Amino acid sequence: MSDSNPSEFDIIQSFFSDLGHADGATQLGIGDDAAIVRIPVSARLCLSVDTVVEGVHFPAGTAPQHVAKRALGSALSDLAAMGAKASHFTLALTMPKSDSRWLKSFAKALHDMAVAFGVSLVGGDTTRGPLTVTVQVHGWLPPDKALTRASAREGELLVVSGTLGDAGAGLRCLQQALRDPNAEVDYLAGRFYCPSPRLLLGRQLLDCGSACIDVSDGLLSDAQHLAKASGVGLEIDASLIPLSPALQRLFPKQALELALTAGDDYELLFTLSESKFKALQSLSPVPVSVIGKVSGAGQQVSVKGYDLDIQQKGYLHFD
Ligand code: ADP
Ligand code: MG
Repeated sequence: MSDSNPSEFDIIQSFFSDLGHADGATQLGIGDDAAIVRIPVSARLCLSVDTVVEGVHFPAGTAPQHVAKRALGSALSDLAAMGAKASHFTLALTMPKSDSRWLKSFAKALHDMAVAFGVSLVGGDTTRGPLTVTVQVHGWLPPDKALTRASAREGELLVVSGTLGDAGAGLRCLQQALRDPNAEVDYLAGRFYCPSPRLLLGRQLLDCGSACIDVSDGLLSDAQHLAKASGVGLEIDASLIPLSPALQRLFPKQALELALTAGDDYELLFTLSESKFKALQSLSPVPVSVIGKVSGAGQQVSVKGYDLDIQQKGYLHFD
């Protein structure tokens, strides 16, 4: 493309017409009024949409590759939390100007992540305005199974994947411009910029898990959603919450508070029986840690070993 400020048509053609995993399920992809996708026999369509806005979900001036990965990663995480097999996505991209260098990096990062997670881009919309990226993801579920927030039962273990608090700490590093070449800062910033949707774990949990939610708003906030949806209480033991070495070293005093209240980690929080947990431990593609248990009725989340009087329990957009 000769032009560095491509038109809407050029943008779609040059950057988005052949993006992501090349699957055989797309009957008609980008270019017509709508896409047509072949649906596996008797599958259920599982879908979700997520928007990231510059200045709200990521700092102004964030590099295009980070914007792309944050947008697709956070959207795919919702499919992971349902136990769905991700298949396709659409992209509504609003940007202040047409800039082919920005678009090239954005599309390359989006493509790499889409290939890594086996999803293909089948359509979208391109408009001018404040930088806003909306990704709608589609996936498949068997007809009789899904991981919802509503099926936790008393006596089950409460388990989380990976480590918590890293993305919140990464955002703090970025806000404080702690950008010295330092492996720990890079690690935490990477956890903010590039979520790892736990799709494989989610699919394993279809067979052995009960209730599941992804940790997008913060552990306490998301545990409360799960407790309420299931009509159970949850007891968290603060000493069991998995914290990365980088978080503990750079934020020794705030590590636990970040793990409890900061969002954007996109780990899975789920419940299952003790015997099923033992089996899962050896299979799971990511470390899984018991952080508490399901305690019966009450719909309350209690945290042993931490003062729960924390003002900000998670990010709420209109508070
Ligand atoms: P319409 O006006 O009929 O909605 P558009 O001109 O907006 O169509 O889009 C033309 C084609 O390009 C459609 O297939 C649409 O899905 C696709 N498209 C537009 N923007 C994007 C994008 N950002 N990413 C992927 N596909 C896109
Ligand atoms: Mg049309």
